Amino acid sequence: MTELVDCHTHSTHSDGRSTVAENVERAVSLGVTTLACTDHFVLPSTMDPDCACSVPAHDASGYLADVRRERELHPQLDLVSGWECDYYPGCEDMIERYRGDATFLLGSVHALDGRWIDDPDDLSYWDDHRLRDVWTRYFEVWCEACACPVGFSSMAHPDLVSWRGLVPDDAALLDDLYERAACAAAEAGVRVEVSSAGAIKPLGSFYPAPDLLRAFHRHHVPITVASDAHACQRIADRVADLYEYARRAGYRAVDVPTSSGGWRSVAL
Ligand SMILES: [Zn+2]
Ligand SMILES: [Zn+2]
Repeated sequence: MTELVDCHTHSTHSDGRSTVAENVERAVSLGVTTLACTDHFVLPSTMDPDCACSVPAHDASGYLADVRRERELHPQLDLVSGWECDYYPGCEDMIERYRGDATFLLGSVHALDGRWIDDPDDLSYWDDHRLRDVWTRYFEVWCEACACPVGFSSMAHPDLVSWRGLVPDDAALLDDLYERAACAAAEAGVRVEVSSAGAIKPLGSFYPAPDLLRAFHRHHVPITVASDAHACQRIADRVADLYEYARRAGYRAVDVPTSSGGWRSVAL
């Protein structure tokens, strides 16, 4: 069986329900070989005024210290220090200021034009725009994010915009958006994430959609795999299924970050 890895997880330092220690304990019990801690990076107060989802600036170094401590305690697990960074124009300055010794940066788009699109309690952006316009705007920003000068290691949940299970009924539009996304990732030389998180959303299936993953494969974009766990019970959730899903799209290997800042390849 292919070794288990999980390259996207959250802890109580941001909006996760388990501590880093609890995530690590669960990973060790499952025989996970690489776990990336990727709490939500520090956000400007205009986006997250009460730090409801992001690590507060004053805790950025505390979070990283927590990861270092757990790494020393569990030498059998390669514990990677990372962040999930929301992309917005100008985010680089904040990332350089607070990233610390993190070696793995996920790029994400959860907000469009300063408004969240993945909050089930606030669907106002969706109410104010046509479905096809939300999708088009999402991929426009996502393609920009690929080219962010900070150089993201991998792009998290590439088609997060599908989380509600609402997909424009327009095959030509989807083909065009997927092709543009794949070109943007290939040109930027960034990896993309295959994630089981969509399976617990109304969408009910993995990110990205099969056609988008096939487009990434056609453009030779490497992949990482992840649960996006917000509780230790979901660590490495359905990662074996993600391997099979990626294989069906043509992939024969996944990229896995190392705690020393390098990469290794795991054959599928
Ligand atoms: Zn995310
Ligand atoms: Zn996440």
